[in-house]
Amino acid sequence: MVAAAVRLVKLVLMLADLEAKGVTRLTVACDRCPRRGAYRVARLVKQHGRDFDLVRLRLRLAADCPAYRTGQGTPRCGARFPQLPDLFRT
Ligand SMILES: [Zn+2]
Repeated sequence: MVAAAVRLVKLVLMLADLEAKGVTRLTVACDRCPRRGAYRVARLVKQHGRDFDLVRLRLRLAADCPAYRTGQGTPRCGARFPQLPDLFRT
């Protein structure tokens, strides 16, 4: 758990970081609902701006998950970015 917490510090990836790494499509998958998809990074940047971080992006994407609505404030949705292993597991 401590290792996971330390890793959280490095979690604040921005859309700009994806661009810098040449990632053009960001894959999203959820462990608790059947959703799966990919977002074009260029489109996300256009929508949210380069400085939008992936933590907020995940919350945004999780907000329309059916599993999320059963939660109480914190996302129940398991939406995560499989390209970024382990980073966004709940
Ligand atoms: Zn979900």
